[in-house]
Amino acid sequence: METIFSKIIEGTIPSNKVFENERILAFHDIEPAAPVHVLIIPKKPIPTMNDVTEEDLPLIAEIHQVAQKLAAELGIAESGYRLINNCGPDSGQAVYHLHYHLLGGAKLGALTG
Ligand code: 5GP
Repeated sequence: METIFSKIIEGTIPSNKVFENERILAFHDIEPAAPVHVLIIPKKPIPTMNDVTEEDLPLIAEIHQVAQKLAAELGIAESGYRLINNCGPDSGQAVYHLHYHLLGGAKLGALTG
């Protein structure tokens, strides 16, 4: 299914990229919720965390590795950060292409549930 993120991967919609390889893309969120707000996405079109399979696990591990590297590069590794995945309607997931929010650069509010 075509999403705004598949168009960003194709390059038909521009993005402010901070990392890219054959499998993963990371770019600044268009509506940042914190001073640092980057989205890390697999290029493979996985709609939600519910759709991650065992064969995707190396990709998920690599996303964590990219998050760690970006946190260091963006200067938030020591002060701290969050890596968040929203899955499904109750979480508020708006884009049905798997993505992780890397948030930091300020004291973050408490998680609610
Ligand atoms: P979700 O609520 O699905 O977890 O998060 C989707 C995120 O994608 C939101 O934080 C939203 O601001 C971001 N977003 C939506 N459209 C675009 C876009 O065209 N470009 C960028 N860079 N971010 C987007």
